[in-house]
This record gives sequence, structure tokens and C-alpha cells, in this order.
Amino acid sequence: MTIIKSITHSKSLLQQISGHQKLANDPELTDLLNSLSVELETITLAASQLLEEQASIQGSVISNTKPKMKSGCYIFADQKGFFCPHCYDNTGHKIPTKRMNSKLRVCPSCRSSIS
Ligand SMILES: [Zn+2]
Repeated sequence: MTIIKSITHSKSLLQQISGHQKLANDPELTDLLNSLSVELETITLAASQLLEEQASIQGSVISNTKPKMKSGCYIFADQKGFFCPHCYDNTGHKIPTKRMNSKLRVCPSCRSSIS
């Protein structure tokens, strides 16, 4: 959000300059300041749109990386193996489960049985 802060600060600086006595009789400077103020409005709009886009991209990245379920475990596209869903949901760590038999897996970290 620092970009919005900078823009807000720029606007208040511009206001201080615009309110300056020396400018009162200088139409050329007043024109320039008006143009600058219009540009700042454009930047404000562009910045808030960018921030919104960024937020929605981040949201979709998170939902895309949500792991798939297989045999009660999480599987990941970029990593082989079956991982404990409890550990991943609670801590974000990928803990590979250990196979006990054909129907049962156990997490070595939280000790859950996954079948
Ligand atoms: Zn676990």
C-alpha cells in the first residue's frame, strides 16, 4: 500500500504548492499545476486498478496450488509422494506419509492414520 501513500502525499504537496501566494498571479504555473493534478488522478486510478489485479492474481495462485486428494493424502503436481493433509493444512509443511499396509498410511509427524 506504500504506492497509495506516496500518491496521497504527492497530492497534499501539490495542494500546498497550489495554495502558495506567489502562484496567484502566474497563470502559466497554475496551468502546469492543474495538469499535474490531472496526471496524479490518472496515476491514482491506475495504481488502485493494479493493486486490485494483483490481489486477484494472488488469490487465484493460492487456489491453483491447493493440493489434490488421493487415498486420503495430498498429492502435489511438483512433488512425488503422498503427504499428510493435517500437517499441510495446519502448518503448511509437506510431510510424506509412511505406508503401513495396502490400506493404511501413517503420518510420522502428527501420527494420524490415513486410510
Ligand atoms: Zn501429519
